[in-house]
This record gives sequence, C-alpha cells and structure tokens, in this order.
Amino acid sequence: MPSSFSKLSLAEPLARAVAEMGYESMTPIQAQAIPVVLTGKDVMGAAQTGTGKTAAFALPLLQRLMKHENTSTSPARHPVRALVLLPTRELADQVAQQIKLYAKYTNMRSAVVFGGIDMKPQTIELKKGVEVLVATPGRLLDHIEAKNAVLNQVEYVVLDEADRMLDIGFLPDLQRILSYLPKQRTTLLFSATFSPEIKRLANSYLQDPVTIEVARPNQEASTVEQHFYSVTDEEKRHALKQIVRQRGLKQAFVFVNSKLGCARLARSLEREGMNTTALHGDKSQDERLKALAAFKAGEVDLLVATDVAARGLDIKDVPAVFNFDVPFNAEDYVHRIGRTGRAGQSGLAVTFVSGSDTRLVGDIEKLLKRKIELEAIEFDEDRPRGRINDGRRAWREAGEVGDPRDVLDAPRDRDRAPRPQREYRAAPAPRDPFFDQPYQPPANDAPPAWEAGIKPATSRVSTNIKPKRKVAALFKSE
Ligand code: AMP
Repeated sequence: MPSSFSKLSLAEPLARAVAEMGYESMTPIQAQAIPVVLTGKDVMGAAQTGTGKTAAFALPLLQRLMKHENTSTSPARHPVRALVLLPTRELADQVAQQIKLYAKYTNMRSAVVFGGIDMKPQTIELKKGVEVLVATPGRLLDHIEAKNAVLNQVEYVVLDEADRMLDIGFLPDLQRILSYLPKQRTTLLFSATFSPEIKRLANSYLQDPVTIEVARPNQEASTVEQHFYSVTDEEKRHALKQIVRQRGLKQAFVFVNSKLGCARLARSLEREGMNTTALHGDKSQDERLKALAAFKAGEVDLLVATDVAARGLDIKDVPAVFNFDVPFNAEDYVHRIGRTGRAGQSGLAVTFVSGSDTRLVGDIEKLLKRKIELEAIEFDEDRPRGRINDGRRAWREAGEVGDPRDVLDAPRDRDRAPRPQREYRAAPAPRDPFFDQPYQPPANDAPPAWEAGIKPATSRVSTNIKPKRKVAALFKSE
C-alpha cells in the first residue's frame, strides 16, 4: 500500500496542491481509499473527521474528473459531476474549503450550499456551473426544486458522516436526492460506525462496495491525559476556571449536554472575563461560522459546544477538552476527547462528575473497558462559598449502596434512573442555645398579616416608585 502521495501518479495540478498543503504521507484512510476510488468502485468507509477522509475521497474523485476539465465560460460545460452530502452546515463549509484547496490549480469549480443563509448567492454560483457540489440535504432539495441544480450528470456521490445524517433524520431527503441521480455512478459512503441502519442504506444504494475500516471507534487516544473530577454542579464553573488558569491553557473545548446550558455557561464565563463563544444549533448560521472561525484563528479561548454542534468539526490540536457535563452517550466521550491529543500531540481531557452522573460514568467505563478513578479538586481560596466538594464522597457512598455499574441497564431517562443515595454528612453546625429553647409566641401576639388585612407588599415598594394601575389593584385589600 503506497504511503507517499508521489506514488499515486496524481495529475500535476492536484499533486502541486497536495505538496502545497504540506502533506508528507498519506493517512491510513487515504492509503486505503484513494487507490480504490481511482478504480471507480463504490466504497464504504469507516472513518471519522480528522482522519484525512476528505482528501481520501476528494483527490481521487478530482483526478477522475480531470478528463472533463475545461476553461469554457458556458455553464453547460460545467455540470455537477460530483455531489458531496453532509449533515451540517459547518461540516459542509469545512469540506468545501478543503476541496477548493485540492482543486486550486485545476479548472474545476466547486461550490457549497447549505441552509440558514440567503439562497440567492448560492443560486448565482450554481447557475454559472460547478463540477463539485457540496451540500446539506435540505438546502440541496430547495435548489433542485427551484431548478438551480441539475444532477443528471453526476458521476460521483459522497455520503459523508452518513450516520449523523440518519441520526438527524435526513433519510427521506437522501432518498429523494439519490432518486435524481443517474444509476450509473460511483457512491462513496463514510460513517463513523457501521450500524444496521447504515448497512441498510449501503445495501440499497451502493454496488458491491469495498469496505475500508481504519478508525477504530470507541478507542481513546493514548496521548490524552484524562482526569475525572468529583464536583458538585455549583463547583463546575469554578473548577473549570481554576484548571484553565493553573495549566496555563490558551484554548479549550467545553462540552455541555444542552443548548440552553451551552448558552448559559458561555454567557457566564464571558461575564467572568473569559474569552468565550458558544456553538449550538439555535445560533444563526452566520453566528456559528463566525464562532468557529474566531476559535480557529485563536481569537477565542473557550468554545462551549453541544455534541451535535461540534461533532466532526475540523478543529485540531486543541490543548484541552472539558466535559462540563458527562455525556449522555458514552461514545460521545470518545468523540469529545478525540479533539485533543490528535496526531501524536499530547492533550488534556477533564470530566466533571457530579453525584448524579454515576451511571453515565459507568457507561464510559464499560465502553473503555477500564475502571475510572475519580479525583478530588483542591480549590483555591476563592472557591464557591458554602459548598462542599462532596462529589467524591457521594460517589463512594453510591458505591457502598451498590456498584455504579449495577445500574447500567437503567433507562436513559435520568429522572427515572435509580439515583445513587447521596448522604451529605456535612460538618455539624455549631450549637446555638437559642434553638434549644421552647417556642415562645411574639409578645404582642398580633394576628397574621393576611387576617388583619394588612397590605404587606406595599410596604416593600419604594415611595419613589408609582405602581402601574394594574399592579396597584393587586395591592388593594378589598
Ligand atoms: P479530514 O478528516 O478530511 O477533515 O482532515 C482533517 C485534517 O487533516 C485537515 O485539516 C486536513 O488538511 C489534514 N490532512 C488531511 N490529509 C493529511 C495528510 N496526508 N497529512 C497531513 N494532514 C492531512
């Protein structure tokens, strides 16, 4: 299997682009997939973003399309010949940028279309003609319906991150799009996992595919230093700031489990003076792309993200990943920490475990096939007041009540899952003799306010504030 690009006999413009990218040798997915795609066979590849899979399909596909290369200005001479479908806007944008770089010295055109932004500029580009079209399914269908994209000359279709496309519910859209394509074509499917659904999709749309499996999913990178800290929910933010400061971290990914939590955490970290941005599905497309670009450019220190928003994003060499929330799915733990320690770099992965996360940590242990040791955090002086770092104790006590792994098969719904018994054995409060005395009613024994017709609320309103009429009505005693 060749490992150097020079052994591939790529067309000169492609070889030049690769050399300019500074790639020295092929990644495993490239070494395996490129020679197969060059033969025109269908491929089913198990590889995640970050493995070099874009070049693995884009380079051979461009090589095969070189025969159509022309300098004509007529749109008819530039029909869509390759279609690359991706689940999210960010991924589509990212892949399109890479393809542009690989095709830089050719006369082949590429474009990207995704939702959330105006269709008009995309329409203008499509009408000029493009050989390689990168798209998310929904927006592509809009363009097909508007007759901006004609797909009857497609020779290659790439279903990238296919598992996520199915997760998101794109199957009907994919089926519709595939129905517009010529039957005679090469289909390349890439997915992080080969679930039964993915296999069904492959059986329906791929012909005699060559299976290539390079990424071993659910495996941790050995270069990642992992810590699981016992904290209470209230301590997490403080712990995060402390670790960032103590380790002198310049940039980090912070993962949370919900969109709401994501926005809230980003806002509060920002308020506390940390250069933070949030990446979640409720942000406008423009905001998300800007957030990503700012992080990549090093203008932002902390990128707070949900799994859906972040999975697959090509952000390499992040020095640290924080799991502010333990992920609901153990596989997401591996995906999250895969952001750091890439390509042999060392990385740090910190997970904050609160008392109710016992079962989720048990899931991760099961997946990684090793025991996870929880550590306590030594807080600086300015740790949150009145809080006890009791997570570790809670964990231990849960272990005493029953091993966390005993509840592995509990339903995913956290509310219905058996919760570990948390017993706070807080330090006994200092005794105050006042509380030992029997109850004495107040001396004047006045009737309670609600019986005496007293207007309690008005007394708390400043005399400078004139309540609006409706509110004032509430204060009337009759
Ligand atoms: P991908 O998995 O295609 O998103 O690629 C992840 C990153 O790896 C991208 O930034 C590529 O530019 C980079 N990359 C792809 N192929 C190689 C290679 N052979 N050597 C070094 N970097 C590469």
